[in-house]
Amino acid sequence: MSYPEVILCKYGEVVLKGANRQNFESSLIKELRRRASPYGNFKIYFKQSIVYVEPRDSFADMEGMYTAAKKVFGFMGVTRAAVCEKTMESIVETVKGYLPDKLYGKRTFKVDAKRADKKFPLTSPQISAEIGGVILSEVRGIKVDVRNPEVTVTVEIRDDHAYVRAGQEAGAGGLPLRSSGRGLLLLSGGIDSPVAGCMMAKRGMEIEALHFESFPYTSERAREKVMTLAQEMCEFCSRIHVHVISLTHIQEVLRDNCEEDYFTVLLRVFMMRLAERCANQYKCSALITGESLGQVASQTLSAIGVTDSVVSIPVFRPCIGMDKNEIVIEARKYGTFDTSILPFEDCCTVFTPRHPKTQPKLSEVMAQLEKIDFDELLDEAYETMTTETKLVYPEYK
Ligand code: ATP
Ligand code: MG
Repeated sequence: MSYPEVILCKYGEVVLKGANRQNFESSLIKELRRRASPYGNFKIYFKQSIVYVEPRDSFADMEGMYTAAKKVFGFMGVTRAAVCEKTMESIVETVKGYLPDKLYGKRTFKVDAKRADKKFPLTSPQISAEIGGVILSEVRGIKVDVRNPEVTVTVEIRDDHAYVRAGQEAGAGGLPLRSSGRGLLLLSGGIDSPVAGCMMAKRGMEIEALHFESFPYTSERAREKVMTLAQEMCEFCSRIHVHVISLTHIQEVLRDNCEEDYFTVLLRVFMMRLAERCANQYKCSALITGESLGQVASQTLSAIGVTDSVVSIPVFRPCIGMDKNEIVIEARKYGTFDTSILPFEDCCTVFTPRHPKTQPKLSEVMAQLEKIDFDELLDEAYETMTTETKLVYPEYK
């Protein structure tokens, strides 16, 4: 027998404080509704700090919806629960039919009963004791451990129904998408920048992306790889406009006119200025990069100091204090790792100096820029910008 189920999404305490609560709640619901469309017809509403995702008919794909809900930022915990009438008889019957599968192979459990409806005839400890007894007789080999159970069975008596569930999976955490403004991610084909984008999306930023290419020194496939990464990021970021700017001419001019040791930092100055212009056009209030202190020549404190000083909007570098292996763990979590390690060239690896300056001074960098027509090159590169939109799935609006 199948039991009517609902997905319960719990948001974190932090979100509940202050005047923002209503905005947070409505953006979480809006996002879940948009995410639900490929999975069927759902009623989505919140009550008592929980968002309920209820299938309206038996065609709804609960597994698909559940997986999608776990990727929505702002929820700390996501669970599937069986819904039943608020009588002990109905709860016991549901526990007997719904839970054994979920408890199969588990060694220890405890029951946590919550009674939002204080008129329910049994107290929480009484419900726990009775349901504990039912589980012990239905699930072979399982024992009670109230201190450190492998799984917690929760029975919640709410206003209109009772809910029975085993365990709770972590949600994506963080704050609802778009609750912290918009940031422009400098997206390369590497491991770090997609992670940086997802980390800022987790803090509520809507992500817009900018990729620099250097065709024909970089290939069409390198660009496709970046588009795939943006598509993969949409699992968490929902929608990303990916802008692409060509640096080919700038790189050729740098090669022909400037000292080789400065190529990397000079190119980064151009990237930052073009990114700032793009950010202004698309109303992004910060730039985001995947830099990690000391990882490569362009990420020393001096180099970061130089690139920071040429723009006047904040630059967020969420990976700055992370080791590569920590970034890799995040990349796997966000599902971008396998694409990131495909071997395609990046514009940063074209004309790489043999001895890049690791301690560049702003005055020296500016002296190099004197040798070329900086503003005209910027204008010309900006003109090459094209844009593609990536969505978590085509129906997402
Ligand atoms: P990643 O793994 O993100 O490519 P990386 O270790 O290769 O980083 P760099 O190549 O020095 O480091 O780049 C540092 C940051 O500069 C990247 O994380 C990204 O934000 C930005 N960046 C580098 N190349 C590009 C590019 N072609 N287009 C857009 N942004 C770029
Ligand atoms: Mg890179």
